[in-house]
Amino acid sequence: MELNEFSLIDRYFKRQSHYRQPGTLLGIGDDAALLTPGVGETLLVSVDTLIAGRHFPHQTSAADIGYKALAVNLSDMAAMGATPRWITLSLALPHADPQFLQPFSDALLALAAEYQLDLIGGDTVQGALAMTIQIIGSVPAGQIPLYRSGGVVGDLLFISGSVGDAAAGLQAVIAEQQDELSSRLILRLNRPTARVALGQALLGVANAAIDISDGVVADLRQLLRATGCGADLWLDKLPISEDLQRLPLAAAEKLRLMATGGDDYELLFSVPEAHRAQVEAIGQTLHLPLTAVGRLTEGADLTCWQKGERVAPKWLCRGGFDHFAAAGALLS
Ligand code: ADP
Ligand code: MG
Repeated sequence: MELNEFSLIDRYFKRQSHYRQPGTLLGIGDDAALLTPGVGETLLVSVDTLIAGRHFPHQTSAADIGYKALAVNLSDMAAMGATPRWITLSLALPHADPQFLQPFSDALLALAAEYQLDLIGGDTVQGALAMTIQIIGSVPAGQIPLYRSGGVVGDLLFISGSVGDAAAGLQAVIAEQQDELSSRLILRLNRPTARVALGQALLGVANAAIDISDGVVADLRQLLRATGCGADLWLDKLPISEDLQRLPLAAAEKLRLMATGGDDYELLFSVPEAHRAQVEAIGQTLHLPLTAVGRLTEGADLTCWQKGERVAPKWLCRGGFDHFAAAGALLS
């Protein structure tokens, strides 16, 4: 089958028989899409680019690439407490290859359907494999999104789920490990779960939030820069998964993966002490562990603690995504 640019778009991307969002007046097909937000609604817009060999290893499957390209954008909406609604896709492809396009678009559109998103447009060009997804979400009238800058001294810091698995997964990819445990960790790297429902539940409960893409320490530093606070980080409280626990690595190395490994896409958020019970209730409703890992403090320093003692692990000053360095060509 000959695929030109237009049959490619129709075949792989213009597949929704109807649009799911009531505000979609016009999607793929014209020079621009038309959207009508609800009255008083605030729109949130975010964009992320993924480049082969930089943001994912070249050997990543087309389906995993399609999934992750959208998941990282969903995560930005989650970190704002927004409801994701629309996406556009700009895709650069070396060849119009059905073997890539079918699984890539299947995985991307299946994840879009899970969140009732409409793919409303994009661009398709020939070039080295890369993709940019723009995502548009909303918060209802009167709701304040979760800004990074909203944290206040005394707030408790929480992390959802567990951290470090994706970094361990990347190490497993590089070492070409294929055992069951490695496969599950690689799944966490390739198929991150954006914490969209959590972000929405935290509106009015959390003061600040950020998603963990570059590592707990690096992203906490971003949050601190925005809030103008310092923080205590209780390293021994960082949530570890059963899989990472079982991995035959030294405890210090696991801690390094948890504190500095990127790509987990969990939420890091700050909450007034008085809202602690609300956070617990949200965790129970969503069946998602929410763990207190520290507190916002006066000043601008990030202080790490382990078993009640101040510690300064040597990775602290670098503070983020150095697991990518191990991949050679991979840079975040
Ligand atoms: P233009 O000439 O205006 O750039 P295109 O020919 O690139 O338009 O695209 C035709 C239509 O297909 C437009 O509505 C555009 O938004 C949509 N489109 C192009 N590429 C994609 C894609 N990868 N995913 C979704 N929609 C796409
Ligand atoms: Mg175009």
